[in-house]
Amino acid sequence: MDIIVCVKKIPDPEIPPAKFKLDMESKRVIPPEGIPPVINPYDEQAVELALRLKDKYGGKITVLTIDNDADTSIVKHALAMGADEGIVLADKAFEGSDSFSTSHILSQAIQKVGNFDLVLCGRQAADWDEGLVGAIIAENLSLPLVTLAEAVDVVDGKLKVKRVTLDGYQIFAVPTPAVATVSNEVGQPRLPSGWGIISASRKQIPIWKAGDLDADPSQIGAKAVRRRLVKLFIPVREKKCEIIEGETTAEASVKLAERLRKAGVI
Ligand SMILES: Cc1cc2nc3c(=O)[nH]c(=O)nc-3n(C[C@H](O)[C@H](O)[C@H](O)COP(=O)(O)OP(=O)(O)OC[C@H]3O[C@@H](n4cnc5c(N)ncnc54)[C@H](O)[C@@H]3O)c2cc1C
Repeated sequence: MDIIVCVKKIPDPEIPPAKFKLDMESKRVIPPEGIPPVINPYDEQAVELALRLKDKYGGKITVLTIDNDADTSIVKHALAMGADEGIVLADKAFEGSDSFSTSHILSQAIQKVGNFDLVLCGRQAADWDEGLVGAIIAENLSLPLVTLAEAVDVVDGKLKVKRVTLDGYQIFAVPTPAVATVSNEVGQPRLPSGWGIISASRKQIPIWKAGDLDADPSQIGAKAVRRRLVKLFIPVREKKCEIIEGETTAEASVKLAERLRKAGVI
């Protein structure tokens, strides 16, 4: 089974709050010094699901990332886990992309890779958390989509996808090729092996630019965005402490109840 996995580089979610800084002007997160970005954890789980399918049915796993720094580290992480090929998509023309333009770029790259049975995305990117890209790729490529996949198998030539719901699961039978977004219920992704790290570090990663894709220039980058981010800010949470005094516990309790009623809490 040939699988394409879309993986995104994000700021490390474990950044200490004191190191998390925003540039309010450009509405971007300022990369914290000394803390390298990581693969989106949900995408690491998508790679894990792809590897389980490869372990069972064979085939090839190709990972794609759009990263305008042309940073290959995330792709190499997936290769070290066991993926076969990786491609980085980087071009100035991609700057200012939103979910639609991001999905358009990835859809064109997926078509260029070609010959796939399944496209996997994470359920969401853990930085912007929009959870849209997988669904838009399916729409762009006119492919069936199952969201929140916990497990995938092959039964009677179709994909059998277990989809997580709030209090249980659903099973879908889906023809290939298809798109699935992967839920964190997949469980712990495997660690890259020592040999995997060495061979990934030696691998040449192709960088595809806009001109390498059959992308519609009006659908990529800032000019294609369909909505505008107006404000990005870190909310200030104020904590106040008020001591309710009283001669006795009963008196303090009555005062507390009055204070809570005045504040509209009860
Ligand atoms: C080149 C570029 C420039 C951008 N510029 C701006 C900007 O100027 N201002 C701004 O506010 N935002 C910018 N963004 C962020 C962009 O708007 C969001 O990343 C996009 O809307 C998708 O939302 P999300 O990250 O929440 O992804 P989700 O929809 O939550 O992602 C779901 C899944 O889609 C896949 N996916 C998502 N992004 C990528 C990726 N980059 N590569 C591979 N797979 C991916 C992953 O599998 C992921 O788990 C830019 C993004 C890119 C790629």
